[in-house]
Amino acid sequence: MSQQLSDRIQSLPVSATLAMAAKARELKQQGKDIIGLSLGEPDFNTPEFIKEAAIKAVQENYNSYTPVDGYQELKEAVCTKFKRDNNLDYTPNQIVVSTGAKQSIANIAQVLLNPGDEVLLPAPYWVSYSAIALLCEAKFVEIPSSIDTNFKITPEQLEAAITPKTKMIFFNSPNNPSGTIYTEKEYRALAAVLENYPNIYILSDEIYEHINYGAKNFSFARIRSMYDRTITVNGVAKAFAMTGWRIGYIGAPEWIAKSCTKMQGQITSGANCIAQRATITALEAPVSEIQYMVTEFKKRRDIILGLLKEIDGLKLNTPKGAFYVFPDVSAFFGKTIKGHKINNASDFSMLLLEEANVATVTGEAFGAPNCIRISYAASEENIRTAIVRIKEVLS
Ligand code: GLU
Repeated sequence: MSQQLSDRIQSLPVSATLAMAAKARELKQQGKDIIGLSLGEPDFNTPEFIKEAAIKAVQENYNSYTPVDGYQELKEAVCTKFKRDNNLDYTPNQIVVSTGAKQSIANIAQVLLNPGDEVLLPAPYWVSYSAIALLCEAKFVEIPSSIDTNFKITPEQLEAAITPKTKMIFFNSPNNPSGTIYTEKEYRALAAVLENYPNIYILSDEIYEHINYGAKNFSFARIRSMYDRTITVNGVAKAFAMTGWRIGYIGAPEWIAKSCTKMQGQITSGANCIAQRATITALEAPVSEIQYMVTEFKKRRDIILGLLKEIDGLKLNTPKGAFYVFPDVSAFFGKTIKGHKINNASDFSMLLLEEANVATVTGEAFGAPNCIRISYAASEENIRTAIVRIKEVLS
């Protein structure tokens, strides 16, 4: 019998971040000394006080199906967090808890996008945004930026990208993969354009908000004219070293939240009971509890930037948040290094994997074909060894 997969899955690209992480894992299992700098995953353990909350939840027999949109106590904790950290007013009926922020984003796309709708993606953007839009048969429209503008788009570019078919913009600050953080003024300038287009919704992905090295975060929903059409996405994976626990959440207009719950009710039901209980404890803790991780990430950012600056041909900027550097490697295009012809960022990333045993992710997957993403959510020792190896290969 022939294998007849749907057109949908056949046209879906694999996640470049997860694919590279899987490849690095596979090579390691074969005995290769691979240093994985591909995945955006804190290398810390989940803090003890959160683990204890999870153990307590198991002992207290939290084992039943959870409400589809999340435990009431968790939704209340999310509202308190939104007020405390973001000065955003949400009530529990505007909150939906999901199995990771990725599911939150997929829910939003599924409930708002029709085939043929256009989704604006300021580039560089996280790899799954475009795939999630494609799954809704929507078209994604990239708004390009470069390292010369610190990977920020301008209001003029936003205006030029809007058409009568534009339905949404996926906005992400601090940004994965560039680490860029937009200022309040820049948010307001973009909002001024959107004010003229009342039918465009904003998905504001703020998952990296706490991985911030001194810049001020802002939120689209803080702008009064944007609040009723903004969906604020967040989760505990990055800030609390809880990637595998899979808890994300949204704050949204109630009618959108209700629809996300309806969607989720047919696909996964409520998120994991133990992880939700642990998340209540995580969100109720003062932000100072996780500061040691942010301090360590900043130290590593400075180390990796210092080392990369010593390599001729890499163009760098200083990311203000997240845990990635995103160098422009286009100076190497057209060259042959150790027998590998480098035509693009994917070739460059493969060169680093094969010759330096260092896993990175090509910028092509993020809509930035001149760059590669290097995650420094890794030990200082691994960062230092990786960059020494990269330097050797490139010189
Ligand atoms: N968001 C992380 C990253 O960009 C995790 C992998 C993923 O889900 O893409 O590396």
